[in-house]
Amino acid sequence: MNYKISPRAASLAPSLTLAIDSKAKAMKAAGEDVVGFGAGEPDFDTPQHIKDACAKALADGFTKYTPSSGIPELRQAIADKFARDNGLTYKPSQIIVSCGGKHSCYNVILATCAEGDEVIIPAPYWLSYPEMAKLAGATPVILSTSDKTEFKVTPEQLRAAITSRTRLFILNSPSNPTGSVYTPEEIKALGDICVEKGVLIMSDEIYEQLTYDGATHKSVASFSQAHYDHTIIVHGLAKAWSMTGWRLGFLAAPEPIAKAIDAIQSHSTSNPTSFAQKGGVAALNGPQDHLKSWLAEYAKRRTYAWQKLNSIPGISCVNSKGAFYLFPNISKLGLKSADFCARLLEQEKVAAVPGIAFGADDYLRISYATSLANIEKGLDRLERFCKTLAK
Ligand SMILES: *Cc1c(COP(=O)(O)O)cnc(C)c1O
Repeated sequence: MNYKISPRAASLAPSLTLAIDSKAKAMKAAGEDVVGFGAGEPDFDTPQHIKDACAKALADGFTKYTPSSGIPELRQAIADKFARDNGLTYKPSQIIVSCGGKHSCYNVILATCAEGDEVIIPAPYWLSYPEMAKLAGATPVILSTSDKTEFKVTPEQLRAAITSRTRLFILNSPSNPTGSVYTPEEIKALGDICVEKGVLIMSDEIYEQLTYDGATHKSVASFSQAHYDHTIIVHGLAKAWSMTGWRLGFLAAPEPIAKAIDAIQSHSTSNPTSFAQKGGVAALNGPQDHLKSWLAEYAKRRTYAWQKLNSIPGISCVNSKGAFYLFPNISKLGLKSADFCARLLEQEKVAAVPGIAFGADDYLRISYATSLANIEKGLDRLERFCKTLAK
C-alpha cells in the first residue's frame, strides 16, 4: 500500500528532542544511571489545593462537555489574572482556554496566517513555532541571534525582515530555550515596529513568573492601546503551576481573533477537559505562595549550573534571566550539537538537547528543572566528557 502523506504533514521536521529523549528513556529503563537535562517541565508537583479542586469536580460529576472556549468561571479568572498581574483589561469573550499553551499557539497561527504569509521567528526558537507556521501554509522567517546579544533580536533586525507578506511576529520572553528576558524598553521597541508596520505579535508569556536577578516581565500588549490591538498573548498553567500534564493553556486576543479561534477550536478539540478547568480556576484564584519557594530553588540551581558550565574549558555560557534553561556555547569543542549530545549520552549517560533543534547549532539546552544533586552529577560528567574532546 502506498500511503500518501499530505504535503503539509510531510513538510514537518521530526523532533530531535524526542529522539534523544526516547533513547535516554530506553537507557533508563534498561537500568542505566542516566542524568536528564532534557526536561521541558518543572520537577515540582502540582500544588495540593489545585489537585483537590479537580478531584472535587470529578466527585461532583463535572464530567461533561463545557463551552468550547472554556467555562465562564475560568475565563473570568484568567481575565482577573491579566488585570491583576499585567494591568490589562480583557473581557472573558476575549479569552480562550485551550488544551495547553502549545495548542493556544497553534490556534493563533491557524487563525491569523494564510498560505504564503510570513511569520517572523527569532532563533533560538521554541521548536514548535516554525512547524506550526508550516502547518498553516505560512513561511517561517528565522532571525538568528547569538549569545553576544543574549539571544535577543534587535529592532533593526526585525525591521529589515518585515515584508508586505509578514503577518505575525513571535516573541517569547522569558525564552525557551535560552532563558533570556527582554527588558521592558526592548519589548516596547519591537512592539513599536510591529504597530508601525501593521504586523500582529504573538507574545508567548508562559514563563512570565519565572525570572531572576530582578529581571521583570512586561507584556508587549501593555504599552498602549495600539500595542494591545496588535497583540495576542499566549499563556498557560504548565510552568508556573507545574501542570504540564493537565493540558491547560489560554490566550487573550482582540475580539475578532478570539472569535475566529473559538470557531476553530469548536470544530477541532472542543473544550479542554472539564474537571481540569476547575483545577485551573483554583490555580489562578488561589494562593500563589508555592512560587516563592520554587523560584528560590531554581535560582540556586541556576547559579550553580552557570558557574560550573563556565568553569569547563571550551564552554561559555551567558547567565539566563528567566525560565529554567541555560544555553551554553559549545562551538569551541569541535562537534555539531547533535553529535555532541549523542556522544554525551553514550559516553557519560547525560541527556541534553542539541541546539540545532532550536535553530542554533553552536549550543546545548540544559534544563535545571531537576534536583541540585542531579545537576552536580550531570555537570561533573559533562566536564569529564569535554576533557576527552579537548585532547
Ligand atoms: C511549555 C511551553 C509552552 C506550553 O506548553 P503546554 O504544555 O502546551 O502548556 C508554550 N511555549 C513555550 C515556549 C513553552 O516552553
